[in-house]
Amino acid sequence: MTDSELDNFIICKKCHTLHRKIKLHKGTKALCKQCDSVIYRHHHNLIDNTLAISWVLLIALIIGFSFSIMSININGISQELNLPSLIIVIFNNEYYLVGIMLSFLIFIFPVTILLSLITLLTLMKLKKGKYLVKRLLILVAQIAPWSMLDIFFISLLVAMVKLFAFAQLELGVAFGAFVLIMTLDIFIFKRINFSDLWEEYNNIYKESR
Ligand SMILES: [Zn+2]
Repeated sequence: MTDSELDNFIICKKCHTLHRKIKLHKGTKALCKQCDSVIYRHHHNLIDNTLAISWVLLIALIIGFSFSIMSININGISQELNLPSLIIVIFNNEYYLVGIMLSFLIFIFPVTILLSLITLLTLMKLKKGKYLVKRLLILVAQIAPWSMLDIFFISLLVAMVKLFAFAQLELGVAFGAFVLIMTLDIFIFKRINFSDLWEEYNNIYKESR
């Protein structure tokens, strides 16, 4: 079987049943006949929507890193928590490896993913830069599992629950930005599959193959 023949098939992510792909009508989705989970959807304006969400995510991420997440007040002593100062504290305490890993997992990787998405989607809209778009799609797929902003945010919530017992917490702008990031992140990566973007890629650059 050749690669292009393989493109006609799709595997259910949940139960690994092989299905032959059919063309969907606008706004409909294909369900697995074994386990009923969604295998693929017909996306309306996939590129425009993903591009818009990526911009919002990037701006929210910059806000999340620039402003205070919360201020912690214990017995009248107040301390602002923001990410740059948190990372600086880690470095000052000579936990260099932790500091470097944290910077990559919660900032450098997410920003790289978003900048790559914005670049590749803009190029796809313009139907230009076939080779670069392909490299960026591969890059995003490779580093996506290493973006751990969600894990960081959940651990932050757990820490907050513990702090509630003896401290007064006042949520900051960055906290709101992180809530927005988590919501959109779930939307963008649960709804949009990389295979959809690849399919879009094949459609757009078909002529220049
Ligand atoms: Zn299934």
